[in-house]
Amino acid sequence: MSDLEAFRTETRDWLDQSCPDSLRGGTGGALAGTWGGRKWKPDNPDQRVWLDRCAERGLTAPTWPTAYGGGGLSKEQAKVLSEEMRALRVPPPLIGFGLTMIGPTLLQYGTEEQKQEHLPPICRGEIRWCQGYSEPGAGSDLAGLQCRAEDRGDHYIINGSKIWTSDADQADWIFALVRTDPQAKKQEGITFLLIDMETPGVTVSPIKLISGSSPFCETHFENVKAWKKNVVFKEHAGWTVAKALLGHERTMVAEAFGSGAGGARRTLADRARSHLPGVQEGQPLPDAVLRSQIARMEMDTQAFGLTMQRSRDAAKAGHQPGAESSIFKVVGTELNQRRQELLLKIAGPQALGWEGAGFAPDELQTTRDWLRSRGNTIEGGTSEVQRNVIAKRVLGLPD
Ligand SMILES: Cc1cc2nc3c(=O)[nH]c(=O)nc-3n(C[C@H](O)[C@H](O)[C@H](O)COP(=O)(O)OP(=O)(O)OC[C@H]3O[C@@H](n4cnc5c(N)ncnc54)[C@H](O)[C@@H]3O)c2cc1C
Repeated sequence: MSDLEAFRTETRDWLDQSCPDSLRGGTGGALAGTWGGRKWKPDNPDQRVWLDRCAERGLTAPTWPTAYGGGGLSKEQAKVLSEEMRALRVPPPLIGFGLTMIGPTLLQYGTEEQKQEHLPPICRGEIRWCQGYSEPGAGSDLAGLQCRAEDRGDHYIINGSKIWTSDADQADWIFALVRTDPQAKKQEGITFLLIDMETPGVTVSPIKLISGSSPFCETHFENVKAWKKNVVFKEHAGWTVAKALLGHERTMVAEAFGSGAGGARRTLADRARSHLPGVQEGQPLPDAVLRSQIARMEMDTQAFGLTMQRSRDAAKAGHQPGAESSIFKVVGTELNQRRQELLLKIAGPQALGWEGAGFAPDELQTTRDWLRSRGNTIEGGTSEVQRNVIAKRVLGLPD
């Protein structure tokens, strides 16, 4: 038996013994999983058990070094682990911006002290992070940000606002871009700073959305004191760090939404059958147009999944995401929007609402997911902006 096969057997046995029954066979979903943090209240106490057991073995961040709470696994072992988790249909023990954005960025740019301070609590699900990039006047033109950090020796005093800060009301820390040199060229006067959300002067106001839920917030800083030891990389050099983090973000968004958004869910064909009385499981769908749309969607999703797998393998081998993450972002998010449109079509009149009696539980989620998917081609940088990046940095076209 090869080492990898032995690892698979050991992993399968461990998962079988360690994953609580109530979490198996779940319905998945792009954002399924535990976000953790000080404010987290599990819906099911088994989520905490599952998180703690995985964190103890470093399996919340399988490829991170063990010194920072990771599992120290090779890319092949990490792939085996995710295959075995998928086979059991268990949600990841932990998800969130700590694991997918700030963690990888600190591994690349953080000081040893910053890694020691921040990475283990991320792995244990103790601290939840949010992202303070966008401002009312700085979205696509991110380098135009105005949130001001005044130098006071060993610390800064921050004044300004961030907008569209996803889940800021649930987060414990924020990684933020602040302007430390207003005289410099706009990309050169920015610093990447880590700020505790409990610092006096930080306030958060949620923004209500059409889907009824409110994941977005405005985050305000009024005379907030932030220590210079929390600068990542170098003062005024935050743009370099910001771009590296955006590479991780775009890959994460593409992966979360583009790869079928929860392989554990029923297939598109099964969903369609449930809306067609008299069509049994395994029987072909009578509508040839719908059949061909579903087949195309499933093939595109498979092809995208395989391309993402290749990129994950490259990332685990040490390759930092570059401009190709913009291609993944465009394709993955547009794929998800097509899938959500198709699901809406399949659900027919059931998709006209998202609450109340008369709507099947699956379809309540369908309509919410469709509404949520509208933001996919905006978050992490709009599709138009990604196409500009692809034109310049991948295709080498002139301005
Ligand atoms: C679901 C979701 C979650 C988000 N979470 C966060 C978060 O946690 N933290 C955070 O900081 N931000 C977050 N954002 C904000 C997001 O990063 C911005 O919305 C995005 O960068 C676009 O900026 P904007 O909204 O200001 O639009 P604008 O920049 O004003 O763009 C408006 C329109 O103009 C187009 N446009 C602008 N410039 C160009 C150009 N040069 N060429 C071609 N077209 C252009 C855009 O494509 C868009 O269609 C989130 C957004 C969404 C939708």
